[in-house]
Amino acid sequence: MNLTEWPLLVVADHHKDEFEKERLGELIQQLKKDNITVIPSINIEHIVDLCASQRDISGVLIDINMNASRASILEAVVALRKRFPRLNIFILAEKSSAEELPTEILESTNGFYWLDDDTVTFMAGRLSHLIKEYAESNYGPFFKGLVNYVDEFKYAWHTPGHMGGEGFKKSPAGTAFYNFFGENTLRSDLSISVPDLGSLLDHSGPIGDSEKFASDTFNSDQTYYILNGTSTVNQVIWRSQVSRDDLALVDRNCHKSLNYAMVITNAKPMYMMPRRNALGIIGPVKMSEMTEMTSLHKKSASPIISEEELGKDIVMSALTNSTYDGLAYNVRKVKKELGNHVNYMHFDEAWYAYARFHPIYDGFYGMTPDENKEHPPVFTSHSTHKLLNAFSQGSMLHIKNGDKEAIVPDEFNEAYMMHASTSPNYPMIASLDVSTKMMHDNGVQMSHDNILDAIELRQKMVRIQKEFLQKGEWFFGMWQPTEYKGEAFESVTKDTLAENQDAWVLQPNAKWHGFEDLEEDFILLDPIKLTFTTPGVEADGTYTENGIPAGIVADYLMNKGIVTEKTDTYSFLMLHSFGTSKGKQGELLSALLNFKKDYDNNTSLEVVFPNLLEESDKYQGMGLKDLCDAMHHFYKENNFLAEMQKAFENLPEQTMKPADAYEQVVRKNVEYTYLEDMMNKIPAVMIVPYPPGIPVMMGGEILNDASKAVYNYLSILEKYENTFPGYEKDIHGVERDIVDGKIKYKTLCIKETNLGE
Ligand SMILES: *Cc1c(COP(=O)(O)O)cnc(C)c1O
Repeated sequence: MNLTEWPLLVVADHHKDEFEKERLGELIQQLKKDNITVIPSINIEHIVDLCASQRDISGVLIDINMNASRASILEAVVALRKRFPRLNIFILAEKSSAEELPTEILESTNGFYWLDDDTVTFMAGRLSHLIKEYAESNYGPFFKGLVNYVDEFKYAWHTPGHMGGEGFKKSPAGTAFYNFFGENTLRSDLSISVPDLGSLLDHSGPIGDSEKFASDTFNSDQTYYILNGTSTVNQVIWRSQVSRDDLALVDRNCHKSLNYAMVITNAKPMYMMPRRNALGIIGPVKMSEMTEMTSLHKKSASPIISEEELGKDIVMSALTNSTYDGLAYNVRKVKKELGNHVNYMHFDEAWYAYARFHPIYDGFYGMTPDENKEHPPVFTSHSTHKLLNAFSQGSMLHIKNGDKEAIVPDEFNEAYMMHASTSPNYPMIASLDVSTKMMHDNGVQMSHDNILDAIELRQKMVRIQKEFLQKGEWFFGMWQPTEYKGEAFESVTKDTLAENQDAWVLQPNAKWHGFEDLEEDFILLDPIKLTFTTPGVEADGTYTENGIPAGIVADYLMNKGIVTEKTDTYSFLMLHSFGTSKGKQGELLSALLNFKKDYDNNTSLEVVFPNLLEESDKYQGMGLKDLCDAMHHFYKENNFLAEMQKAFENLPEQTMKPADAYEQVVRKNVEYTYLEDMMNKIPAVMIVPYPPGIPVMMGGEILNDASKAVYNYLSILEKYENTFPGYEKDIHGVERDIVDGKIKYKTLCIKETNLGE
C-alpha cells in the first residue's frame, strides 16, 4: 500500500506568527519525509467540495488560528464530518486556547495537536499512523490481499503464462499491450495457484471473506461472485434447482439468458405476461398473473404439460426487476403471492444492484428486509458491472432463505462450479470486492446524490418543454409523474422527491404511465432510469400528424458522442448512473435542443447524417424533418405500435419444450426458412426483436393462424428495413439474405419430417 496515494489536505494560511509558521513548515517537511503527500489550501469554505471531488484525500488538518472566523471553521468541520463520516479531521491549535474550542469541533475531529507543545516528530508520527489506518480501511478483504501479494511477490512460476506481464514484453505487439494496460494490471492477473488469496471455487480465504462481506452489504444470506455476467448468474440459479420437465413460471419479458436457462435445465415454462402501454413501453406483470389460481389455469391450458403433471409443483418463478424502463415490483407483495405456490423465486435485478442503498427503493428489491419469513428461498442476480462499478462481466448472485427452506451451500456449489472457469480473473474479483466496499462505505450517499441529479434533469426537461409549449412549439417529454400531492412535479423540491417513495409509486389512476388496472402500491418508477419521449403518439395510442421516431434522435445523439441505453419507437432510455456528471447532463440537453433546431429547420441530411447518404441514394435531397416524417408515416400507415402490441399479447402455442426445440438444432434437423414461408413452421430458436427484447416466439412455439400477429409484425419490420436502408433492426434469431436487392428475413426452423418421433 502506497501512502503517497493518500494525500493530507492542510488548511492554513500565511498570517501566522513567526514561531507557528516555522513549526507548521517543519511539520510539513516531516510529513513529506514520512511519505505523506500534502495538499496545501488556504480556503476553509472549499474543503467539502475539494474532498468530494478528490476522494483519495485521507484527512484534513485545519489550523484553527488561520485567517477565518471560528464560525466558518466550525461550519466547515461540521459539514465535513456530516458528509464524510470516516474521514480524518485534525485540528492544529495552541494549548492555551483549548478550553475555548466549541464542543461541536471537539466531537467532530479525530485529533488535536498543539503547535506550541507537541513535538513535530510526534505530530507527524501520529498523523502518518492515522492516515495509514484510514488508507487501509478503504480496501475490501480481497483487494487488500491482492495488493499486498502483488507488492511482495514479484517472481511468479505459475500461470498465467505471461508471468505478471513479463511474457508480453518479448515482442513489440505484446509490449504495446503491456504499456497500454500497465504493470499493475498484469501483475495482478494471477492464477488459482496462489493459495494466499483463497479460492473462488471453494469460496475460501480472502475471496470467501469478500463474498461474505458482500452478503452483509447487500443483505443476503449467501452471496456468490460470478465472473461471466448475469447471463451466467441466471443459468447457475436455474441449474441449482430446476431439472428435467420441472414446471416454471417465467416473466415473458425476460433476458435471453433466462430462455437459455430453460433450455439447459429442460424446464417446461409457463409465462407471465407483462403489460404494455400505447407508447410501446413494457410494463409490469399484473399481480393477477402471479396468483395460485392463475397458475392452475396456466398449467391446465399448457399443451406441453400432461394430465399427470397437473399436480406437479412449480419449481421456479422468474421476474425481471426492475424492467429495463425502471419499473420495480413491491417484492414483499410478490413474495406473498408467488411465494405461496412456487418452490423458489428468482428476481433478475441486472440493472438494479444499488436498490439496497436508498430508502426510496425499500420493499421493492429482492433482498429487501421483510418481516414475513414464510417464503421460499429468493434468488437475485446483479450485473454489478452494469450500474455499480466493476469490470464488465462482474456479477453477483444473492440468496435469501425463508423459513420454508435454506439453500445448502455445498449442493448449490455444484451448480456454481458447472458454470465457472477454473482460471478465474483476479482483477475482476478485485473489482467486485471494490464495488462492494464502495457501496458499503458510501453507497447511500452516492445513491442519494445520483437520485438528486437525476431528478434535477427530469425537472429541467419539464421546464424546457413547458416553455416551448407556451410558445406553441414542441419539445421532448419525460415519462414520469406529472405531480406530487397536487403540486406540479417540476415545482416540488428535489429533496422532497428524493425522500418520498410515494412520489415514485405508480398511482393506478394517473394518466402519464398509460397502464391499465394497476394495483395500489405495487410498482415503483426508479428515478434514475430516464425515459425520454418523442412526439408521435398520444397517450391513447393515436398517431399525431407529425412525429419524431426515437431511432432518429438516438442516431443524432450518437453523432454527438451521446449513446442512449435503449431506443424504442417513440421513446429512448438514458441511465443516470454514478458515472453521470452534471457536464454530461448539459451536453445531453444542448444536443436535444440542437436536434429541435435542426428538425424545425429541416436541416439537410448531408449535414446531419452524411453516412446515411452513403448508405443509399434514397435519402438524397432530404432534410431531418423529411426523414422523421417519412418514418413516422411508415409507422402510422402500418399501424406499427398496435401490430407490435398484438404480436406480444398473444402467446404462440407451445408444441414442445424449448430444450426439445434446441435438441433439433443439435440433431441438425433444422433449416433456414424465409419469413414468407414461415407460417405453420416451428422456429427452433427464440425470436427476440430489440427493443424491447421480449421474445415474440420461443423455440418450439408454432407460427400459425393463432399467432399470425407475430408474422404480421415481423413482416412490418422486414418492410421497414427495406424502406429505410441503414436502419437495420436488431433481432435475435433472424438472419438476413439479400435477394434481388431486397432484405429477406430467415429463421432456423424445425424440418417437418422427423417431428413427433
Ligand atoms: C443484461 C442483463 C442480463 C445479463 O447480464 P450480463 O451481465 O450482461 O451477462 C440479464 N438479465 C437482464 C434483465 C439484463 O438486462
